[in-house]
Amino acid sequence: MLRRTLLGSALAAPIIAAAAPAFARRADPLAPLPLDRSTHARPEIARVTHVSLDLVADFDAKRLRGTARLNIVARPDAEQIVLDSDGLVIHAVRAGRRPTRFELGSRDEELGSALTIQLNGQRTIEIDYESAENASALQWLTPEQTASGKQFLFSQGQAILNRSWIPTQDSPGIRQTYDARIVVPDGLKAVMSAEMLTPNGRHAREGGRAFRFRMPQPIPPYLIAIAIGDLEHRAVGPRTGVYAEPSVVERGAYECADMERMMDVAESLYGPYRWGRYDVLILPPSFPYGGMENPRLTFLTPTFLAGDRSLVSLVAHELAHSWSGNLVTNAVWEDGWLNEGFTSYIEGRIGEALFGVEHARMAEALSWADIQTALGAVPADGQRLHWVGEVSANDNSSAITYDKGALFLRTIEGAIGRERLDQYLRSYFDRHAFQPMTTQAFLADFRDHVVRGDAALEERLKLDEWAFEPGIPSNAVEPVASGFDDIPGYVAHFVSGGPPAAAPWEAWNTMQRQRYLQTLPRELPAERLDALQRAFALNDIGNNEVLFDWLMLAMANRYQPAVPSVERFLTSMGRGKFVRPLYRALMGQGEWGQAIARPLYARARAGYHPIVQTAVDRIVTPA
Ligand SMILES: [Zn+2]
Repeated sequence: MLRRTLLGSALAAPIIAAAAPAFARRADPLAPLPLDRSTHARPEIARVTHVSLDLVADFDAKRLRGTARLNIVARPDAEQIVLDSDGLVIHAVRAGRRPTRFELGSRDEELGSALTIQLNGQRTIEIDYESAENASALQWLTPEQTASGKQFLFSQGQAILNRSWIPTQDSPGIRQTYDARIVVPDGLKAVMSAEMLTPNGRHAREGGRAFRFRMPQPIPPYLIAIAIGDLEHRAVGPRTGVYAEPSVVERGAYECADMERMMDVAESLYGPYRWGRYDVLILPPSFPYGGMENPRLTFLTPTFLAGDRSLVSLVAHELAHSWSGNLVTNAVWEDGWLNEGFTSYIEGRIGEALFGVEHARMAEALSWADIQTALGAVPADGQRLHWVGEVSANDNSSAITYDKGALFLRTIEGAIGRERLDQYLRSYFDRHAFQPMTTQAFLADFRDHVVRGDAALEERLKLDEWAFEPGIPSNAVEPVASGFDDIPGYVAHFVSGGPPAAAPWEAWNTMQRQRYLQTLPRELPAERLDALQRAFALNDIGNNEVLFDWLMLAMANRYQPAVPSVERFLTSMGRGKFVRPLYRALMGQGEWGQAIARPLYARARAGYHPIVQTAVDRIVTPA
């Protein structure tokens, strides 16, 4: 996932884990797993190994309806299996072929309910059910909310939302294979994070068309994903392609032209891509994230379509998850940096191979600045890579999980050399492929294979300080990007009254423009903002990252001429990374901003994903 807080605070309770748990050896299907507080499951007794879905998409009722068949492994004396459910409507449950007793426990605000099923000695379970009302993982779009003018559905499972449409054990450590038969209305196409067995669908006995899918590799259940819409596919390479609504697919294919090269780079560094094809799906604008690394089929925000491939690092990030996250997976969400920090590091390496060292240094310098901002804004507990205590679910935690995580790996790279780190990471992905990982287990593995008792190296690396302490250890090195060298001078010139056009805006790339806008003083008079707007037409700029930086600056100064642009932006997409800070900035501007934010949110809210609605409901409070 790119740039969103992972979970609410209730899940960030302290976790007590053994120093180096020996879990999940493939030989033992019930090998112990680290304790995951975000599931009701008791995987040490009975565990789901395969999910088989047979579902009809009912767009009128906004429900997925049908049967889930689960294969399980269980201790010989196991009497029950416990699944996760959040609002699922359960009609009947069978163990083997026979009806069996089940119980839906009381609902926890964060975790949903435990669904406890009597096994009666059986190892397959069938559940007739439908997805929850207003299922938190599903967004059902009306024709007006899509480019094609047709209905659209997509799911977002991470972190613990899939329990609102799939009755299974929703814990990242409990890996499951899956297959599915999905029936959709005529004229629409279903895609999933799986191999597509019926590209054009088949006539379904229920009416509409049935699509079949198969994911033979065991994945954490948050990666089961579905989308249904008027979708076309364009190949961009032998293994790579783009799905999107017809009017978007050409732009998408243009923007993603480098995907096959990205795969080649990633494979040369970290070993074979193990998932077959790699396609991306460009979603309608309400998609709440930058991207979601659903295996074989990354889901992407359309806000990365800049027209000039300048925001394609998003694709590199999601592709990198094919190793860090999807292949080796954080066993508990408190260790989310194992997914996101590693992935941000690999994203940087892919970017460096494709676009050069200077490109990579600029990205690192922007990321360093994000970390500094976060350290000033987030309490100490929220500054740790391995979460402990109450971590507030705010924007800045992503600068820790993603950016501090990546900086940790770059620091290791600096200390042991790139070649040694590459060698280690490649072997790490091989040794732990299709298995869960914890911070403790990673550190133990790294010490076994790299440190090997070298006390001086151990001292230099400060591994435990990086993983478990707040702040940034003293061995971190601030990245130097020569592409940013001139920017302070242009900023100073502008601040002292010079014309903004003195800056070589047209020659700058996206990151240089961002750096310039981010470096300008946060307080500027309207006349100076006018000058910027006149020089660079910022209110209408097509690059959403640059537009966001401009609008944050403009709103901080109650700059009225940018208000229509903010309104346009916030009603045209629902990406949480942009939406939440802008509403927060407006609400922080007293009556002026609140008079803009409240009616704007009232108009825009229906177009946002439930995840973003929940977050913004807390920001844009009633008068
Ligand atoms: Zn990510």
